[in-house]
Amino acid sequence: MFVRAYPGGKPASPPSGPSLLLPFVADGELLVHHDRHGARLLRAETAPEGALFVGTLDGLPCLAYTQPSTADDDAVEPEDIKRLGLRSLFGHMSDDEVTVAGYASQLIRWQKNARFCPACGGPTHNDDGWNQKCAACGFSHYPPATPAVLILVHDGAGNILLAQKEGWGKRYSILAGFVEPGESLEDCCRRETVEEVQVTVGECTYDGSQPWPFPHQLMVGFVCRYESGTITPDPTELSHAAWFHHTALPELPPSYALSRQLIDRWVAQQGK
Ligand SMILES: [Zn+2]
Repeated sequence: MFVRAYPGGKPASPPSGPSLLLPFVADGELLVHHDRHGARLLRAETAPEGALFVGTLDGLPCLAYTQPSTADDDAVEPEDIKRLGLRSLFGHMSDDEVTVAGYASQLIRWQKNARFCPACGGPTHNDDGWNQKCAACGFSHYPPATPAVLILVHDGAGNILLAQKEGWGKRYSILAGFVEPGESLEDCCRRETVEEVQVTVGECTYDGSQPWPFPHQLMVGFVCRYESGTITPDPTELSHAAWFHHTALPELPPSYALSRQLIDRWVAQQGK
């Protein structure tokens, strides 16, 4: 189980002893141990200097840092180390390890991008938890988490609205969109379905969420009942959109994605 280091208050220090390492290289890829059994986080007996303690995974401290380009790792054979983008960790690592990697990547980026105050440009310092505070003007800011909705539209008769974007190949998925400032999640579902396919929906029911660290989204899934309108995809957003019967679905997103989990749960409910 992953336990975050900062449930509240000041950053904690990692316990001594063996730890899990999350070395990020310049383009956001993570160095991991990789062999024919799959990928897993690197392990080390000593903590790299300046590493960020992000939490513990099954009791082992997780330490994130930016890997200097010339460094090597004595603890693991170099041929067993691979650079992997965060997306390729899904399905190759445990869910907990993917969670840690996604969290750590956002905190590393946060530390890099939040060094100066967005209000006055003055230097900031770590104040409380992950908060960065400006000494000059007092402005404080926190790591962002940007909500986006996933919208499963169904017609109540076994059909689901699926759409396709340029570059997706044969794959279809449910609609999605970013929440606007001052907007509820349900209103976002209703606005996005009109904008993207000119369809209105009625009741919107929450059905799960998933952190999506690309770069700092929180996906929030809703199941929405179709009300009116003929599917007319916005060509700037979608290449195709249509109703599909639950017994004749096209190629769908991979199982680790919340969009697919929503579809699978909805399909399992059909015919019951
Ligand atoms: Zn300031």
